[in-house]
Amino acid sequence: MLSLLFHYLIPASLYGGDTAFPVLARIDLELGRCRGAAEAAAVVERGKPELYTSLRLRFDPAPAQALTLRILNICLARYHLRARATSLLSRPFGLVADPSDMCRLACPGCVHSSRAETLKLFDWHKGTLGEDRFSALLKLYGPYAIGVYFCNYGEPLLNAHTPKLIRQAKSYLLGTALSTSLSVQRFEPEAYVQSGLDFMVLAIDGATQGVYQSFRRNGNLELVFDNVRKLVDAKRRLGSPTPVLSWNFLAFEHNAHEIRLARHLARRLGVNQFRVVNPFDVRWDDPEIRPAAVIGGVRRFGPQPGSNPPENWNPFPASVDAEAIARAFESPWNRPAADDSPPSPGHTCHWLYKNMAMDATGRILPCCGAPRPDTNLVFATFDGNGGDPFNSEKYRQARSFFATGHVAFEAAPYCTQCEWDQATVNIGGAEIRRYFRAADASYFDRRSLRILSGW
Ligand code: SF4
Repeated sequence: MLSLLFHYLIPASLYGGDTAFPVLARIDLELGRCRGAAEAAAVVERGKPELYTSLRLRFDPAPAQALTLRILNICLARYHLRARATSLLSRPFGLVADPSDMCRLACPGCVHSSRAETLKLFDWHKGTLGEDRFSALLKLYGPYAIGVYFCNYGEPLLNAHTPKLIRQAKSYLLGTALSTSLSVQRFEPEAYVQSGLDFMVLAIDGATQGVYQSFRRNGNLELVFDNVRKLVDAKRRLGSPTPVLSWNFLAFEHNAHEIRLARHLARRLGVNQFRVVNPFDVRWDDPEIRPAAVIGGVRRFGPQPGSNPPENWNPFPASVDAEAIARAFESPWNRPAADDSPPSPGHTCHWLYKNMAMDATGRILPCCGAPRPDTNLVFATFDGNGGDPFNSEKYRQARSFFATGHVAFEAAPYCTQCEWDQATVNIGGAEIRRYFRAADASYFDRRSLRILSGW
């Protein structure tokens, strides 16, 4: 941890260490001069051997190849976003996947709320993500991505195979995180600790049952606390610093008075941190549930690893899927059929270039927005039998809309009328910095990380 802090605060160049900065700066400069995707592809192809040779001095072949691919993929994604491209050579560097589309809770504002289900407000199905579908998704995007967030609208712990899915992701050296209510009867804490999971959000918005269930409807706080104890105990018995446990408390008017008590309980239970989060406004669903006027923030308890600690970057070196990574490394960046739109300084949505979401049944969503019957938000269906959903027709239409301002298609994607936050993605700059710092905080110094994450 101390060395991580040292490398973060003091640029490697100041004490004579090699960094990724010279090669990254050159690739970035050359990409900035490109006038089309074919030229951009040539730039990253030329950069590949140099980057790999430099990384190979620090890593085994598979991690060095994986890091090379991830860096070049991020550089290309940045190029595409700047060019407002409609078809991309780059892959999503962040994946959001629901291991289960189901949840036993009914929190206001969610697709599972009582009102939403009664009125059928959302186009949401029941389903469980199978290992085969997820494995196919990883084959396609795993070598290029930096992380997977294992939840969107479902409770990930309801899928008995979630620890296996996490382990699959770790075999591609991906960062992994999930969010859970922990209000589940069947729970194997050891399986989660041994899966290699980096970070676990515990969504607990109260310290007493009455207050807690005002929002976490159908939730059982005693069961939640029992599962927290089991998790903390499993980490201790197995000697694992991960997953880092973050008790996240959504601050509403009805529960803000319990923040202090909850923080106290969090410390006593042995989680790593307690975070007060300002929630989305869910009054459209239940007018009684109102956000509280409190300042969000995090309290960390004692010395602890970061959320992607170096020792967990590659927790299973013997299980790294070297073959899949090598295959991707040997493949040239192919030129897609469609041409770029003319570069435009206008607004675009970052989700369309950075992350991709998939529900448990394989429906591809461009962001974390929930599809409704009246919105066109399902951009493809992924069954693992070929095709690149990140360049589906709907994706291309959405990117083209921002690039040109035209809606020249029937059944236009929801993006053409969207008013959501289009700049903040689930896996973005903070996660890029954390990922590469975990890999080698000295080599990926501040200047290198600025190029990779500052866009
Ligand atoms: S424009 Fe809106 S609907 Fe489309 S991907 Fe971005 S946030 Fe989602």
